[in-house]
Amino acid sequence: MTAERQAQVDLEAIRHNVRRISELVSPAQVMAVVKADAYGHGLLPVARAALEAGASWLGVARVSEALTLRRGGVEAPLLAWLHTPGSDFGSAVEAGIDLGVSGWELKHIVAAAREQQRPARVHLKIDTGLGRNGSTAELWDSLVGEALEYQDEGLLRVVGLFSHLAVADQPQRDETDLQLERFREAVAIAEDAGVDAEVRHLANTPAIFSRPDTHFDLVRAGVGIYGLSPFDGQTSEELGLRPAMTLKTFVAHCKRVPAGQGVSYGLQYRTPGATSLALIPLGYGDGVPRVATGGPVRIADQVYPVVGRIAMDQMVVDLGTQLADDESLLGQEAVLFGAAEAGDPSVDLWAAAAGTINYEVVTRLAPSVQRVYLHETPMLSGVEPQSTAAQLNDREPLAAQESFKAQETA
Ligand SMILES: *Cc1c(COP(=O)(O)O)cnc(C)c1O
Repeated sequence: MTAERQAQVDLEAIRHNVRRISELVSPAQVMAVVKADAYGHGLLPVARAALEAGASWLGVARVSEALTLRRGGVEAPLLAWLHTPGSDFGSAVEAGIDLGVSGWELKHIVAAAREQQRPARVHLKIDTGLGRNGSTAELWDSLVGEALEYQDEGLLRVVGLFSHLAVADQPQRDETDLQLERFREAVAIAEDAGVDAEVRHLANTPAIFSRPDTHFDLVRAGVGIYGLSPFDGQTSEELGLRPAMTLKTFVAHCKRVPAGQGVSYGLQYRTPGATSLALIPLGYGDGVPRVATGGPVRIADQVYPVVGRIAMDQMVVDLGTQLADDESLLGQEAVLFGAAEAGDPSVDLWAAAAGTINYEVVTRLAPSVQRVYLHETPMLSGVEPQSTAAQLNDREPLAAQESFKAQETA
């Protein structure tokens, strides 16, 4: 049975986007950022697809997310960068998860490494202007010095140096230049002190497309691998990306109403003339923003606006014409957003209706919306993992095949 409310995720679109970004940034490598359940697309299926397509790293905010990936059989390098003193550093070190370090984490991580009798893998983070985590420039020297002492003791290895950009989605702004300059200085200080990092990384999706000078050894690609544009006024298609998610359900009711019919709580919409209304069984309980009145819904070949308030489980579209008795749209597929090539409205239109960004629209979808995967690589049983990857991905670089581990799903 088809799920009544589904977010269909095309893993081939994810692979396409990873390949597109890899080509853009080569010889730099790609870290696929899969935090927040892969921006709502589903952590493990997206992670596997990204690795199949040549991403060589995965990035998440939280250690707990990284541990979920390891438990799912993912062996690729994984970086987690947002911690609290309660984070499970012991399990992270045991599982070979790379940890972002802004300062205070170092002692906790070293304690975990002693306990696990295994060196931790750390990426030192400098705050070049975003004002979130990352070491201040003032404390950078001492952080680098401390990390090198622990490295000499065999308790950790400084694998990476990184920072995060604040305004790369607005290429006309000049703060990115300043951040880049500060990052270069921090890298120089660390390297002069003796750090020999495998990867220096700064770029997010907007910088991948607008600032090749920020690519360094590795880029951290989030929204782009889901096929969404980080830029106002530039579409996915213009960037060569394919939106991976399609959000759809079925019309739950369809009826003719006279002019002046009030619609939904508050009666803030009244039908301007005799028309028909279709009821769409998705609401803010499913993660559709309540404020997104006016958002588009495609039914058959037509796109209609949501009218009146969006409720917890449902919303209403005005079909703009009085349907004949035999024209009811009851049971028809209703698509809120998807790929332009399928004729579906874009996530960006929903973001505009909600006064937010496309990132939030996909990420906030609730578990009540079933994720359904297209083009998932079959997990063949009884086949040696590496040959499985090789057969199914003979166009992919060897590194991707090696980091891919075919996983039995029960
Ligand atoms: C979320 C995140 C990214 C990815 O950003 P996108 O704009 O989605 O590409 C990269 N780096 C860090 C540190 C992040 O938190």
